Amino acid sequence: MPRDFLQGCKEYYDVVVIGSGLAGMTVANILGRAGHSVLLLEQHYKLGGLATWFRRPGSHIFDISLHGFPAGMLKSCKRYWNDEIASNIVQLKNIRFDNPMFSLTTTFNREDFTKLLTGRFGVPEENVRQFFDTARGMNFYDDQRMTTRELFDKFFPGREDVIRLLMEPITYANGSTLEDPAITYGIVFSNFMAKGVYIYEGGTDDLVTKMHAELQRNGVDARVRCEVSKIVVDRNSVKAVVVNSRTIRCGTVVSNSNLNATIFNMVGQEQFDAQFVEQARAVRLNNSSTQVYMALREGEEIDESTGDLLFSSTAPLFRTDLLLSRQITSRTFSFYYPRTRPHGKRRFAVVSSTNARYEDWANLDEQEYETSKQDLIETTLDALGKYVPGIRDKVEHVEAATPRTFQHYTKHLLGASFGTKFEGLAVSRALPQQISGLYHAGSVGIIMSGWLGAINYGVIVANDVDQRMMRAGQSAADTSS
Ligand SMILES: Cc1cc2nc3c(=O)[nH]c(=O)nc-3n(C[C@H](O)[C@H](O)[C@H](O)COP(=O)(O)OP(=O)(O)OC[C@H]3O[C@@H](n4cnc5c(N)ncnc54)[C@H](O)[C@@H]3O)c2cc1C
Repeated sequence: MPRDFLQGCKEYYDVVVIGSGLAGMTVANILGRAGHSVLLLEQHYKLGGLATWFRRPGSHIFDISLHGFPAGMLKSCKRYWNDEIASNIVQLKNIRFDNPMFSLTTTFNREDFTKLLTGRFGVPEENVRQFFDTARGMNFYDDQRMTTRELFDKFFPGREDVIRLLMEPITYANGSTLEDPAITYGIVFSNFMAKGVYIYEGGTDDLVTKMHAELQRNGVDARVRCEVSKIVVDRNSVKAVVVNSRTIRCGTVVSNSNLNATIFNMVGQEQFDAQFVEQARAVRLNNSSTQVYMALREGEEIDESTGDLLFSSTAPLFRTDLLLSRQITSRTFSFYYPRTRPHGKRRFAVVSSTNARYEDWANLDEQEYETSKQDLIETTLDALGKYVPGIRDKVEHVEAATPRTFQHYTKHLLGASFGTKFEGLAVSRALPQQISGLYHAGSVGIIMSGWLGAINYGVIVANDVDQRMMRAGQSAADTSS
């Protein structure tokens, strides 16, 4: 008989959270801590969503999306998770760029960037100051018509090298491009510039294990291998979810699944206004990624001066189409030293990431797909050889992931690494006005994406849900008194 992953579940929960990405887990944790009954349902066999890892023989552990996030993670983890988790968040001090226009090392904060821009790049101090202040002052309610390219042209006209320095890491960090609204750049860039780039020491496996323990302490009923197929709606109100062929009733649903999948697959467009459906259909998904995971055999080491994060490119200029092309010219290398996992065996690993389009990989037949993956591995090892001499003799394990891999494991349509584009945020926020008790929290709109964005969006939605339940409790009390 197949195992029942819902064994012991209750008939009714105040809140069902669909998906255990960082946003989903954060919503569940806050609401559980506030005393609500919460069921967290994850279709995969482990929690974490894109914040995940995998093991390979030889004591190798690879992180998928643990490359860097802004310092704000410290505060968010301290407040909405616990001190133990927050205490593992440390700064990456050695960020490198290497491309035909420049090679440099930076701590990636305002102070160091100001020094670089005014000194090495010779930009007038006033332009640099005004640029930083403008980016810092941007918020969600600003004019959304100005593009990132227009923002750069205003302060650094004709300076392709400066654009590359300022843009390349952010494109990597959230998939945004020069053609996206400037605020999607300004907010994320300023978050990083405040204090630099941070990482979780201990690895994603340690983080998610600690988050799971905290969820349990807060009474959250977390289940894996539980795929929600339907959100049951009656008279514009959420009633239940259908999961592994069982119906579980609930007062509120927070979907951490892909926004489009939530609206069109789990709820069904017939439940929404025609105008909302049109708006939702127009939401574009973000691009996807390819990654190559490389682990060094025992005894082989990489010198820490190689860097923590290395933005490498052989393209003469920074261009979105070059960044997304299958003819890869830009790779971001993340170096994992033994300090990333202080309690594990002494191992070194490198993960190479490149933005990619789903359609370039989706329609390959199996043989073409395998050949293309092998080609990705070979060209990546060649590229890494420049920074780690003799890498081919040092690696023990190499494998690649493509947009198809990300779609397979997370169910993100088109394998989107950062959810939807900017316009997804308004649709996500409007869900509860369409269907009472239906919310979405997860990577949307570039700002609410990445590890920090996803957690912070989870916080916002948890507060909305908590207030709704307090109001419902209040009106029930008023009616009975
Ligand atoms: C290659 C790569 C590198 C990245 N690097 C970084 C980085 O360096 N820094 C950074 O900040 N961010 C990075 N990101 C982005 C970051 O990982 C994501 O933005 C963030 O983790 C997304 O969190 P989320 O809450 O939106 O949910 P997700 O992680 O997308 O999780 C959604 C969850 O919902 C589950 N689910 C979906 N449908 C169902 C269903 N029907 N029933 C049950 N469960 C369901 C999925 O299995 C999944 O677990 C990277 C992403 C990728 C792909």
